[in-house]
Amino acid sequence: MAKAALSLEETRRMFLHVAERMEASKDLLTQADKAIGDGDHGVGMARGFEAVRQLLESQSFATIDDLVRGVGTALLTSVGGASGAIFGTLFRGGARNLGGQQEFHTRTLLRLLTDGLQAVQDRGKAKVGDKTMVDALDPAARTAVEMATLPLDGVLAAVVEAARQGMESTRDMVAMIGKAKTLGERSKGHLDPGAISMHIILQAMHEYVA
Ligand code: ADP
Ligand code: MG
Repeated sequence: MAKAALSLEETRRMFLHVAERMEASKDLLTQADKAIGDGDHGVGMARGFEAVRQLLESQSFATIDDLVRGVGTALLTSVGGASGAIFGTLFRGGARNLGGQQEFHTRTLLRLLTDGLQAVQDRGKAKVGDKTMVDALDPAARTAVEMATLPLDGVLAAVVEAARQGMESTRDMVAMIGKAKTLGERSKGHLDPGAISMHIILQAMHEYVA
């Protein structure tokens, strides 16, 4: 049975599943970043989510906020490059208004994505259309807001689809930010590596919930 809300322990397991999926995506993300960047995105994210996995396996958390913030801090402190700051900020910023809950439900997802997006944009200044992870995260957050009254499993399915379409949209974009910016028109025809990561993270969350 798909679930409407996750307990603290189930939330821990969900993020463990995300960490495993991200570690397993190392080669895919390396290839993506080799095409339009410096090729370090796969190694960076794999290292970051290994740190997340170790944290989640070794520590217990009092609230969902603590857990999500812990995920962000693990990424921030273990990943070099832009994506450590960006994905670390996503989770740390996304934990800001979770309100000390013991359960992860649609409202938690909505706050995580909306506040996380805001924090990422405050920090990195990327807009939709700049060819970054924001192109996957922004439609995902909007979808969560639109579906705020529905149960978590259905919302996550729609959020993943929105992120997938957002990720696909980066293929035709010219990069306006980050390392790929120097390629100009030559960045066209390739997906943005960070947008791929964003989609995989959400997809793994949905896999666990479903
Ligand atoms: P680096 O660019 O330092 O080599 P990574 O290769 O690990 O870092 O990550 C690159 C990804 O980070 C890009 O594909 C993009 O999605 C994301 N990114 C870079 N700069 C920004 C930014 N200012 N805002 C949002 N995302 C960004
Ligand atoms: Mg890179």
